[in-house]
Amino acid sequence: MKIVIAGGGIGGLCAAIALSKVGFEIEVVERASALLEVGAGLQLSPNATKGLAALGVLEAVAAISSVPETLEMRIGRTGQKVFSIPIAKEASTRYGSPYLHTHRADLIEILARAAIHAGAQIRLGARVSAYVHDGPSLRVGLDTGAILPCDLLLGADGVRSTVRRQMLGEEAPRFTGAVAWRMLAPADVAPDLPHSAIVWAGPGKHAVTYRVRRGALINFVGVVETKEWRSESWDQTGDPVELAKEFGDWAGPIPDIIASASQSFVWALFDRDPLPTWSADRVTLLGDACHPMPPFQAQGAAMAIEDSIVLAKCLQAEGVSDSALQRYEKLRKPRTSKVLASARANMGVFHRSNAVTQAATYGPMKLADRLFPSFVRSRQDWIYGYDVRNVTV
Ligand SMILES: Cc1cc2nc3c(=O)[nH]c(=O)nc-3n(C[C@H](O)[C@H](O)[C@H](O)COP(=O)(O)OP(=O)(O)OC[C@H]3O[C@@H](n4cnc5c(N)ncnc54)[C@H](O)[C@@H]3O)c2cc1C
Repeated sequence: MKIVIAGGGIGGLCAAIALSKVGFEIEVVERASALLEVGAGLQLSPNATKGLAALGVLEAVAAISSVPETLEMRIGRTGQKVFSIPIAKEASTRYGSPYLHTHRADLIEILARAAIHAGAQIRLGARVSAYVHDGPSLRVGLDTGAILPCDLLLGADGVRSTVRRQMLGEEAPRFTGAVAWRMLAPADVAPDLPHSAIVWAGPGKHAVTYRVRRGALINFVGVVETKEWRSESWDQTGDPVELAKEFGDWAGPIPDIIASASQSFVWALFDRDPLPTWSADRVTLLGDACHPMPPFQAQGAAMAIEDSIVLAKCLQAEGVSDSALQRYEKLRKPRTSKVLASARANMGVFHRSNAVTQAATYGPMKLADRLFPSFVRSRQDWIYGYDVRNVTV
């Protein structure tokens, strides 16, 4: 049975590994001429690293990642701590898998190598443009003129998925009302920055800092609310002056980090309400093509990793069939929808706009961290405690 995967991002490559391992013939079609990711970091929470373990790549990813000691929230302008979770310890004792910070390009490289090793073919520089049904199978058309016959088409082609559009019709993703600045800085611009994932909260904006490449680089994300996003493209080079206007007066070391920006990118953030259906007639979706979410829970890639393993389990158990695809959706949709809702809610929590709402939100959080630390830590159990390896189909 042959499966064509549209898209060679994190989701498409994880699916290529998982599906090759259970015996499917896989061809990944990627529109870019090389497997690339933006120059930015990625948080891999314990549920994501359990997925990477299932794919057989965790050791390689851990070897080039950084391990945060804590997950923290601070007030952006003062640096005052709201809470701090000792995540390195919690990850091993509570969740049984590490919390990692990885450079996206490193992850993509490892996934691509593993996919090829598992037997998948990767076709670069070709875009999936449409599909047609041909009796019990499918024919997938590429913009190069090639036609690929297959038994299943998997759309892992991101938030503006062509496969989703043909399956469910034209519907633009929802602009979340925020843009994200992303940049990497050498670690020596902020030697005192703790080895932590820190959310710096502020009115109408927040920043996230953490280290990648075993501490050698600092990843900075600055999210800013904005009424409209005029640009046609959804990622473009950002102006360092604008970035400095937004975060230049925040607590140290944020001004030093952003002052070192030789290159930064600004992305408009989009999501979608849960789709009415994920599959139709031997075509299905995964990752951002299926459930794009704002990054305020750091779970978009984690969900794509989990999807890939559950999909492989369903297809292995039942073969390529409607019931296998329905089972996949049934196992994944409630979780991805809940994570989406939680990510959307976090934007409000991080962006409290005045002293009163900040005190009303962050005061109790601070108190709870001091008085009931185990309660504060348990609030992420439903996300981090999930082990895709234990999912039975
Ligand atoms: C600022 C920011 C921070 C984030 N931080 C985190 C985090 O810390 N942790 C986390 O888990 N998630 C995070 N995410 C979310 C995560 O990046 C995404 O959820 C994840 O990359 C989705 O992977 P994907 O493979 O589904 O889609 P994509 O990464 O979008 O990949 C889709 C691929 O398909 C290709 N493609 C598109 N159309 C076609 C076509 N027609 N034919 C062929 N190829 C096509 C594209 O070129 C691309 O390579 C963050 C997102 C943002 C914006």
